[in-house]
Amino acid sequence: MRARGTIVFRGILITKGDAGYKAELQDIDDSVLPEGDVTVRVEWSTLNYKDGLALTGKSPVVRRFPMVPGIDFAGTVLASTDSKWKVGDKVILNGWGVGETHCGGLAEIARVKGEWLVPLPKSFTTRQAMAIGTAGYTAMLCVMALEKHGVKPGDGEILVTGANGGVGNIAIAVLSRLGYTVVASTGRMYDAEHLESLGANHVIDRSELSAPGKPIAKERWAGVIDTVGSHTLANACATTKYRGAVAACGLAGGMDFPATVAPFILRGVTLYGIDGVMAPLDLRLEAWQRLATDLDIAKLDAITQEIGISQAIAVGEGLLKGTVRGRVVVDVNRK
Ligand code: NDP
Repeated sequence: MRARGTIVFRGILITKGDAGYKAELQDIDDSVLPEGDVTVRVEWSTLNYKDGLALTGKSPVVRRFPMVPGIDFAGTVLASTDSKWKVGDKVILNGWGVGETHCGGLAEIARVKGEWLVPLPKSFTTRQAMAIGTAGYTAMLCVMALEKHGVKPGDGEILVTGANGGVGNIAIAVLSRLGYTVVASTGRMYDAEHLESLGANHVIDRSELSAPGKPIAKERWAGVIDTVGSHTLANACATTKYRGAVAACGLAGGMDFPATVAPFILRGVTLYGIDGVMAPLDLRLEAWQRLATDLDIAKLDAITQEIGISQAIAVGEGLLKGTVRGRVVVDVNRK
């Protein structure tokens, strides 16, 4: 076993001190890495909304310093004392507080608990797994919640909000492949054609949903995948059909939920909270297997842009401004 502090690798490090909050690409000594029974050579990471918050310090996502950000990664096991994993295994990590309280994926090396890892499905490369990333895996958790509720393609339209974001793009692609009729809500109507190419049947302007609305309104959606929160989520619930379901996973428009109980007690609407960060292993394995069968790889490739790690901080800022479309993969071994 090599002594700690003898490996130096490249990565982004976030520090907080007298000079303030700083994210910088630099050489990192492995003594910075926390305890963990599996060391992974990271091949690809990605940028999710939460990574944007961590990289810019706009929200207190990072709760330990110094911190390597990056809430997910895919790579190859370099060393393991966990009997489940051996050197050379291809693995994926999503969530578990990685990039927040435990050093994450925006670096060449990561050290984590073996129980957090998921095997890379055979049909994906590590790059494709990160093109999916936490955003895509959470989109799948949302789809699974609607399915488990009993929402079927023949039941009517499914609304996807924040459609041009990572979760939204992948939710549309998967729902469309499964035969659902998808309505995409976006603030970027000029991207309507792109959303249609992913499988959206209709595209609506997000302003239709973002203003304060009535407690209950005309029934329209058989199911909803909401990444926006606030009035958008309240209006989505208010317009969901009798006994329909809403899967809420995001807060891109706000953390508040200015709603009434009317849709729940008068229409039997069910609101599912979707959390990808601490989701149990069996759900993760199911989601990744479902992605392997129900996500069109050609569509995934079409929504993926690639950057080197030195671009991650600037692109993270763009993510928060809503100027990034789809998914961004980060080659942590390329400047
Ligand atoms: P992205 O930044 O890729 O996309 C978010 C999208 O939301 C934007 O593209 C935009 O879509 C829309 N949006 C942005 N700002 C606003 C606004 N002020 N009002 C209304 N819509 C807005 O993020 P992700 O897709 O990766 O994540 C979406 C949300 O889901 C985030 O809040 C994220 O934190 C959350 N999330 C939660 C997870 C969980 O475990 N619960 C896991 C993963 C993500 P458009 O341009 O189409 O309007």
